[in-house]
Amino acid sequence: MTDCLFCKIASKDIPTDIKYEDEHIIAFPDINPKADVHLLVIPKLHIINLMDINDENQHIITHLIRKLPVIAEKNGLSGFRTIFNSGKDGGQEVFHLHAHLLAGNIKFGG
Ligand code: 5GP
Ligand code: ZN
Repeated sequence: MTDCLFCKIASKDIPTDIKYEDEHIIAFPDINPKADVHLLVIPKLHIINLMDINDENQHIITHLIRKLPVIAEKNGLSGFRTIFNSGKDGGQEVFHLHAHLLAGNIKFGG
């Protein structure tokens, strides 16, 4: 999607400090961190949120979730909190699916 911020990050039109990348996903620091480590993990494919998962794209979200511990370990973490905000009532502000991966002094998500 051409006007999507996270699509531009995924395609590297907007340069970002990439912490993990593979064929389906990319991880980078949140611009406004709410913990000592606050990464956003996104699919390269434009999926809006968890309500936009279907039979065709579900393998990507499965892949993303399975990679969260890998990304955490690569970034030196022994544990993490994961938050998916979905839709306006869920507090979603950027409408490209993302997992918040948080660790240390977390000020987000209870
Ligand atoms: P949401 O509220 O949609 O779950 O989370 C969106 C997140 O994206 C917020 O935590 C916000 O700080 C982050 N964010 C917004 N714009 C940018 C940006 O341009 N770069 C990065 N790295 N993070 C962003
Ligand atoms: Zn997008």
